[in-house]
Amino acid sequence: MAFEDPGEAMLSKLKILLILAALLVGWPQIILRFESLIAPEFQFFGLASCTMLLGICLVGIFSAAFIPVAAIRWSFALLISLAGIMVETYQSSVEDHMPYDAFISMINASGSLHEAWGQYASAIMIGGGQALLLFFGIGLSIHHVTKKHSKKLIAAPLLILFVLAGILFVRGGDGARGLPTAYTGAAYAMLYGYERSTEVIKPRELVKLPVVKPFNGDGDIVMVVDESISGQYLDINSSRGVYSGLMAPKTGVTAHNFGLAVSIAHCSAAVNMTLRHGGTRDDYVRINGSMPSIWAYAQKAGFETVYIDVPRTHRIFNNLMDKSELKNIDQWIEFDDVPVQRRDYVSADALAGFLNDGKRQFIYLQKIGAHFPIHDKYPDEFMRYKPALPRGQFLNISDTGDREGFSGSKESWITYRNSYRNTLIWNVGAFFDRLLSKADLAGSTIIYTSDHGQNLHERGGTGVVTHCSPDPKPEEGLVPLVVLDTPQTAGQPGAIDWDAAIAQGKDKSSHFQIFSTVLELMGYDPKAVQAIYGTDLLAVDDAPFAFNYQFNARLGRTPSWKEIRLDEIAWPPAGDFRPVPAGQRQQAIAVRPSMGSPMRASVVTGTK
Ligand SMILES: [Zn+2]
Repeated sequence: MAFEDPGEAMLSKLKILLILAALLVGWPQIILRFESLIAPEFQFFGLASCTMLLGICLVGIFSAAFIPVAAIRWSFALLISLAGIMVETYQSSVEDHMPYDAFISMINASGSLHEAWGQYASAIMIGGGQALLLFFGIGLSIHHVTKKHSKKLIAAPLLILFVLAGILFVRGGDGARGLPTAYTGAAYAMLYGYERSTEVIKPRELVKLPVVKPFNGDGDIVMVVDESISGQYLDINSSRGVYSGLMAPKTGVTAHNFGLAVSIAHCSAAVNMTLRHGGTRDDYVRINGSMPSIWAYAQKAGFETVYIDVPRTHRIFNNLMDKSELKNIDQWIEFDDVPVQRRDYVSADALAGFLNDGKRQFIYLQKIGAHFPIHDKYPDEFMRYKPALPRGQFLNISDTGDREGFSGSKESWITYRNSYRNTLIWNVGAFFDRLLSKADLAGSTIIYTSDHGQNLHERGGTGVVTHCSPDPKPEEGLVPLVVLDTPQTAGQPGAIDWDAAIAQGKDKSSHFQIFSTVLELMGYDPKAVQAIYGTDLLAVDDAPFAFNYQFNARLGRTPSWKEIRLDEIAWPPAGDFRPVPAGQRQQAIAVRPSMGSPMRASVVTGTK
């Protein structure tokens, strides 16, 4: 570019500096994105397309800065810098990428802006600061006006915005990770405008269904949602499974085992969002986004609502929860001061407290379970399966997408599976032992499941991904499903005959049936409930035994279903741990006697 006088060159430099400073504010997320594409696995295609997208966004921003027509330049500066504020604010407060879902949640919560200011003032100032830098960087006058490239300079930034929005549309809102927040925000806003105008997203409805009769009497209704627990690793589902505390619970409590169930999806947020809002295989985007939450239903049916979030602390939202959902939660329990290793165990005490307090409550307990990293998720005395992963590095991490510290080699997967077993004995077995030794279940019902299963590379092969993978293994959707109650509950008029439900639903049920069941337990009319939310656990779900691995199926994307064939799943390999000499049984392992299901036993031997 040729400049006419030194003053103008200075101004151009200033503009470039302002823009670079704005980009620097959002730099951490860009770096993180590129790091994730380089290690642990080098993803050539991902890296190339991310670099290209970042490149064209930069071209867009710098072209805009040199649009000769002041009015157009300033308008674009205003649009793009405003659009970035929300994304940058979000990203600097949670230190993670802002997905499209979160953008919508934030717009919906914009009514409580003054509260947000109190809580996130510093992040908002970062977002605002970046916007100011970008606004002046793009907008400031360029004295020397040459009309030579005028049309190109105007067209480029807009064209790039449309291209980006188009890519995000095709990918269901996904794909802006690591891009300049201004462009991400502007593209998100376009997609949001489209969805609002086509009525996919509507303001959340109030509860309209009538409460007809409480199935559950005066007891509590509890959902215990575990994290990353594969159904086939527990003793209730496999003769080689580890201790779950659910085979023979204390006298008076019955564990009705639905066997291996299929999850909604294979990522935590998608599953928990749908467990909390309902949804059918064909109609979950609308129901997730527009229908009442489970808390709203519980409150209308006269329950106090309690959310126990074990993985997160210090009021950080988990699994797509937001401010507006919180309005229907009476008590939000977290364990800020309890070490990660003890938190599930301590949550058993908290839950027992609610079960014993004589109040009618709906409780949703989100556990830590066995998400990566699992090296240190259990106490030393629970190291019953060896060799296990090295200890001592991950004591303070509840869950992370980062796989640092784990190579993913064939040998390391053997130690991973043993650590996983040890973690299950502690975070499932000892959890239920503790809960059931303290809680009086009279009249209450607990539904236990996990958000998704795990691919622990039982078939061999390397890699570090356990779930949420783009090309999932069937085990990523295989979860336990157990209902706990007391004979007293079973005897109550209108109580659910779980044995009959299991007789037809064992190894065939899905997460999708839980929401309807819980609403019916609360007293909502089954017919009306099922018309919206589908089959409950009392009937056979005749949909394919499959989970959705493209849950984010809005805009241009449709769901993809992974069917699980139970005769083809990988069972936990027996060769992972050394057999323990008879005399040393106590410190060592191991496998509980088979529950003696002939069908299960034959499946186990058949797939070895
Ligand atoms: Zn999960």
